[in-house]
This record gives sequence, structure tokens and C-alpha cells, in this order.
Amino acid sequence: MAKAGWCDACGANVWITDEGACPNGHEASHVSGVYETSEPDPLKDAANSLGDAADTAAAAVSQAWDDAAPGAKDAAAAASDAAEDALDAAASLGRKLFGSADASTTTPDTTEDGTDDG
Ligand SMILES: [Zn+2]
Repeated sequence: MAKAGWCDACGANVWITDEGACPNGHEASHVSGVYETSEPDPLKDAANSLGDAADTAAAAVSQAWDDAAPGAKDAAAAASDAAEDALDAAASLGRKLFGSADASTTTPDTTEDGTDDG
């Protein structure tokens, strides 16, 4: 536990030294109302603030989803389905293209039979 007190030279509450003096160089006689208190921990406070902010953001996103109109959720699902359909269509188109390519290579060349070598 750290000690704090009122320094009448500073005109403010200050953390006091082990000797009961003001850390700004004022004698202990300037300090009154000494009390013990936990030391401030800026890093811990900052970490807590960040944690709270993260929780708040996560809750906001969750709440936003919960508040979304059912239609919006359906639209999101429909968009996902449409993406899958598009992939299927692309795959099907690819099969058609490669299939026609295969067909052309396997098409018999009738010109050979019709050639008259004389
Ligand atoms: Zn002081």
C-alpha cells in the first residue's frame, strides 16, 4: 500500500515518500491528511479499458445481428447460396467447354477417306 496526503505547497494530493514528504521536494511538514491507498496502475486500468471496449464491441455486433430484420438474414443466406450456384454454374460451363473440346479431337477426320490420291 502506498501513502498519499495533501501537500499544501503543491495544493494537491500527492503520493508521499517513505519519510512522509512530498515527492516534489516539499518537507513532510507541508503534508497532512496522510492515508494509505492502493497504488494507481495505469497499465492495468488501460488493459481493463481495452477489455471492456472489446466486450462492448462484441456485444454490439451480436446485438446488431439479433436486431437485423429476418429479411436481412435471409438475404445473407441467399447470397451464400447464390455464390454456391455461381460456382456450380462455372464448373458446369467448364465441363461443357472441355467436353466440346474433347469432342472435336475425337471427331473422325473424314477428309482422309474422301481424298483421291489418284
Ligand atoms: Zn508538494
